[in-house]
Amino acid sequence: MNIHEYQAKEVLSAFGVPVPKGKPAFTVDEAVAAAKALPGPVWVVKAQIHAGGRGKGGGVKVVKSIDDVKKEAARILGMNLVTHQTGPAGRIVRRLYIEDGSAIERELYLSALVDRETARVAFIASTEGGMDIEEVAHKTPEKILTFNIDPAAGFSAHTGRSIATALKLSGESAKQASALIANLYKAFVAKDMSLLEINPLVVTKDGSVVCLDAKINFDDNALFRHKDIQALRDTDEEDPTELEASKYDLNFIKLDGSIGCMVNGAGLAMATMDIIKLYGEEPANFLDVGGGASREKVTAALKIILSDPNVKGILVNIFGGIMRCDIIANGIVEAAKEISLKIPVVVRLEGTNVAQGKEILAKSGLDIISANDLADAAQKIVKAVKERR
Ligand code: ADP
Ligand code: MG
Repeated sequence: MNIHEYQAKEVLSAFGVPVPKGKPAFTVDEAVAAAKALPGPVWVVKAQIHAGGRGKGGGVKVVKSIDDVKKEAARILGMNLVTHQTGPAGRIVRRLYIEDGSAIERELYLSALVDRETARVAFIASTEGGMDIEEVAHKTPEKILTFNIDPAAGFSAHTGRSIATALKLSGESAKQASALIANLYKAFVAKDMSLLEINPLVVTKDGSVVCLDAKINFDDNALFRHKDIQALRDTDEEDPTELEASKYDLNFIKLDGSIGCMVNGAGLAMATMDIIKLYGEEPANFLDVGGGASREKVTAALKIILSDPNVKGILVNIFGGIMRCDIIANGIVEAAKEISLKIPVVVRLEGTNVAQGKEILAKSGLDIISANDLADAAQKIVKAVKERR
């Protein structure tokens, strides 16, 4: 799960990590009131969306008067912000963050993530922070340094000093950075983060070290034990079909192809996507209906697939183990009647109660193409979709 920058800063602040003062705003009036409550003379108006690169896209503005806060708030609020992370469609800005402007001396980069190779939390540091870290990684990878934290020993003062040195900090700034990084580590572990990115981490003109931006991803599998973090979810930032799918506990990811897939089991879902590609089409989604899907779940899954206008055909591929084929068949028939299916559907069932399942489909009077194995099913749906083009 992702959260907004202002929420991330609140989370970090509770662990003693220094961030500028600021307040979220949902309207221009709230933005002006938030700015008036800050000391000035420099304010920053920041679009809050779940994507980076806002600065380059015109979603972050440093201003020097309350009037300009008002002007920029009015411009940014409601705008469709396009950044390299949103894709060309962009994202509508519904929230702002009004922040105290910092006098920046240097912009650094610092992030923490779970490194799969070492199975440890790793800090990644670079002196080249700011808005072009992707380019730094590409052109001068030697300027990006990694520090692994031994989970048994925990975070040591020595690691803090090494990272501060790598960031070319010394004296009081290095001390502040070491403490800041130790607190970031505490927050990372305590809140089950999977990614924490501070870009930029800045050194101000007076030598203080402060987080000017903060991005956090949380491990979804651990969210159940963080009610406070769950409350920060902003469903406006999520794909509406993925959101609907999560209500029914379906593992759904929208893709760009033309063939909708309904499959049980993540491995089978991936194999199904692969074989669709092999026969010359692209999958419209990844969908794992899970092991014990009910009829309601299957109906919801079909509706979600059909809500995508790019879907020109559906491939249902179910291996009935815990999930019986007759339940799936009933779900398909019910959903098809409810939605009045107008596109070809190929169904491949195998496993428990497969004969009953096939009979239910055959007797339904629906135009459903039956398939015997995965290759047969993929070829049939690809052919059906191509014939209709
Ligand atoms: P993004 O990474 O989405 O572009 P940032 O929060 O990193 O957004 O802001 C972009 C740039 O704006 C920063 O690199 C920094 O130069 C400037 N900036 C952001 N917040 C402040 C602030 N509080 N004071 C001064 N400058 C800021
Ligand atoms: Mg940034």
